[in-house]
Amino acid sequence: MTALSARMLTRSRSLGPGAGPRGCREEPGPLRRREAAAAAVDTHVHRIANRLRWTKKATKSPEETRAALEEWLPRELWHEINGLLVGFGQQTCLPVHPRCHACLNQALCPAAQGL
Ligand code: SF4
Repeated sequence: MTALSARMLTRSRSLGPGAGPRGCREEPGPLRRREAAAAAVDTHVHRIANRLRWTKKATKSPEETRAALEEWLPRELWHEINGLLVGFGQQTCLPVHPRCHACLNQALCPAAQGL
């Protein structure tokens, strides 16, 4: 998760001044070859995205979360979000009793205080 955030920031910054996540969607070049048709959002990604408030409002289904993430997540990261978050969701950000004490996102995570 931290790696994903860092990669997103790095990619956004590499595009120059004024280029934010939305600008990344228009990025031409080799990264386009790795773009997925849609972000792969399963229950792990759905849960973690909501806990980290990666959606503007709480979403009720993985499909709703996918649409919300695709509004801001750079398209070239759509293919890797699932692989990055599933293991994290299986080992740390568990559905019940997440291991917040062992999570590197604890200080940043809005949900950590309420779980
Ligand atoms: S701090 Fe807790 S709820 Fe937040 S991402 Fe980490 S494990 Fe999940």
